[in-house]
Amino acid sequence: MSEKILEIENLTVNFDGFKALNNLNFHLNKGELRVIIGPNGAGKTTFLDVITGKVQPTQGRVLFKGKNLKKSPEYKIARLGIGRKFQTPRVYLNLTVKENLDLVTNKNKNVISTLFSKPKKEEKTSVLSLLETIGLSTKAHLKAALLSHGEKQRLEIGMLVAQSPDLLLVDEPVAGLTDEETENVGNLLIALAESHSIIVIEHDMEFVRQIAKQVTVLHQGTVLCEGVMDEVQNDPRVIEVYLGQ
Ligand code: ADP
Repeated sequence: MSEKILEIENLTVNFDGFKALNNLNFHLNKGELRVIIGPNGAGKTTFLDVITGKVQPTQGRVLFKGKNLKKSPEYKIARLGIGRKFQTPRVYLNLTVKENLDLVTNKNKNVISTLFSKPKKEEKTSVLSLLETIGLSTKAHLKAALLSHGEKQRLEIGMLVAQSPDLLLVDEPVAGLTDEETENVGNLLIALAESHSIIVIEHDMEFVRQIAKQVTVLHQGTVLCEGVMDEVQNDPRVIEVYLGQ
């Protein structure tokens, strides 16, 4: 049986009487790439907020690598190995691409010492291979401010990966990207899925089709259905929910 990296049991989140999540059950196997879709207000962001400890569940529990995350603060959950990529890129615009990666690779040092000390050999190798993975080797010495939106997204994904998370949560990584940039981000996520467990929230159905093997549809705070893309997009319940928007 596949090892579960994330198990979510009977999760409910109540905001002043409104159930943003309602008795939601979900699991992700180790090494799986799952895309979560659902209409606006379905509870997708709240779902990620609970996993990362930003929002506490009213009921139910979240187990990560078998450990109950109950009441764990965000920084502790991040340290346990959950990395989150928000929709807008959060990179240091005045630093070069490589310096951005150096910073997170040396996360136990302070910013100044990272920028002025020589990185160890293994840190150098990992940054170089990461630059290659994210397709930014030729732009390593360019200030991040000069990157396109799609390149910034890839850089931030690289910064997350540099922190060696076991689970990557990626929120709408291709909103506002060109077709080519969208495809690049998709290929990056597919490559990363060979060595990481990943959950992606996405609206762009072409992109979902590009990257997803398994799709989970959320609606009204719970799982409406799950399956491969072809099954899901032909499911009458999904069609009704999307047409009803
Ligand atoms: P999605 O990301 O799928 O669009 P959200 O998780 O952002 O959905 O929101 C789910 C529902 O919960 C929405 O109806 C939203 O208005 C509501 N909601 C989200 N956060 C809060 C909050 N802090 N207080 C009250 N209602 C909230």
